[in-house]
Amino acid sequence: MRKPRVVVLGAGYGGLMTVTRLQKLLGSNDAEIILINKNEYHYETTWLHEASAGTLHHDRVRYDVKNVINRSKVEFIKGTIEKINPDEKKVILENGEVEFDYLVISLGSDSETFGIKGLDKYAFAITNVNAARQIREHIEYQFATYNTEEEKDETRLSIVVGGAGFTGIEFLGELTNRIPELCEEYDIDRKKVRITCVEASPMVLPQFDRDLVNYAIALLESKGVEFHIGTAVQEAREDGVLIGKKDEEPQEVKARTIIWSAGVRGNSIIEKSGFESMRGRVKVNNDLRVPGYDNIFIIGDCSLIINEEINRPYPPTAQIAMQHGEVCARNVAKLVQGKTDLENFVFDDKGTVCSLGEDDAIGVVFGKKIKGTSASVMKKVIDNRALFMVGGTSLVLKKGKFKLL
Ligand SMILES: Cc1cc2nc3c(=O)[nH]c(=O)nc-3n(C[C@H](O)[C@H](O)[C@H](O)COP(=O)(O)OP(=O)(O)OC[C@H]3O[C@@H](n4cnc5c(N)ncnc54)[C@H](O)[C@@H]3O)c2cc1C
Repeated sequence: MRKPRVVVLGAGYGGLMTVTRLQKLLGSNDAEIILINKNEYHYETTWLHEASAGTLHHDRVRYDVKNVINRSKVEFIKGTIEKINPDEKKVILENGEVEFDYLVISLGSDSETFGIKGLDKYAFAITNVNAARQIREHIEYQFATYNTEEEKDETRLSIVVGGAGFTGIEFLGELTNRIPELCEEYDIDRKKVRITCVEASPMVLPQFDRDLVNYAIALLESKGVEFHIGTAVQEAREDGVLIGKKDEEPQEVKARTIIWSAGVRGNSIIEKSGFESMRGRVKVNNDLRVPGYDNIFIIGDCSLIINEEINRPYPPTAQIAMQHGEVCARNVAKLVQGKTDLENFVFDDKGTVCSLGEDDAIGVVFGKKIKGTSASVMKKVIDNRALFMVGGTSLVLKKGKFKLL
């Protein structure tokens, strides 16, 4: 009899967690497990702001998928997924097709530009290793070019960050640490560098306590960040952005580097494949399956689960994606074993820490507020824990963050 085939799409937090758990739960004779990912490597999405600012080399944020999967149980296919045909039980790749009996979709997110003019063309988004490397090199190129030109173009030293949520603030933390190094390297007066953060909503980091947020803002301001809160980016251009508050005349901020970090939506494959979704996120059942499909699970950033306490969706995070992966693996294993008593997902919120550069952070962990060095140490513990959960001690030793103070 043919073994059931389980196909997992995406080797990010959710996908790798599912596969590394499944390979323990199922024997080689129980199922054929296939993992498909665009690259041969996994990247720590939560570290991409560091690679983008240039404070961590991009090779430090990635590792080979084959190092963490059991190759006698899991087949890895390097390939780009173009579409899923859920009714035909097929995944369409750019160079072929793969059939499935059970499917787990964990393809992460795309940047959401809300239709703002020019953002697609002129702004960078911190989305993957290639994007991070391009942002780092773009900023360095602007700094390197500045002093070679007879007529000085100050816009080369101006950087606009759109969005003061988690990604925007973490990137600013790294960037403000990197700028003094860049100034020294390229003989540039620090005072000439302009960093502007524009946030449309009236709140910076809405998920955090106001004391902690004020600490973060004061720290970043002391390092030269100019905040425009309650101010929307209205248009991006080759040489800057138009920003403005409601009912006010827009003002121009000249900048050759625009980083857009104000929103994400589920991977476009979700919409292309015809799943009913809200901004590319599918409202999944409690057992993480897609309504109407008993054999398809969607987890991580492509899924949407309501937090009943506040009647709003849980924000997409690595923490929740990894917890989805654990439950999803147990549920897939049950289906393969012919069981029907699937487990419901319940989020166990262990807290969140937002870094403000290598040596500072704010956070709430197990209900306790932390900031400064202790929060920064906790952030590294969280980063190392994510590595441990997927690849054990050997991966932590290879890729972990150990400079605690
Ligand atoms: C800069 C930054 C900082 C963050 N910091 C934190 C944090 O501190 N804490 C936290 O909890 N969350 C954080 N997040 C959010 C977190 O990274 C995401 O919620 C998490 O990565 C989602 O996991 P996932 O498995 O859904 O997707 P991902 O981990 O993004 O993985 C998706 C995978 O799918 C692959 N893929 C995508 N499209 C295709 C395709 N067409 N074909 C083949 N493969 C494909 C990708 O290459 C990738 O390997 C941060 C995000 C960013 C950008």
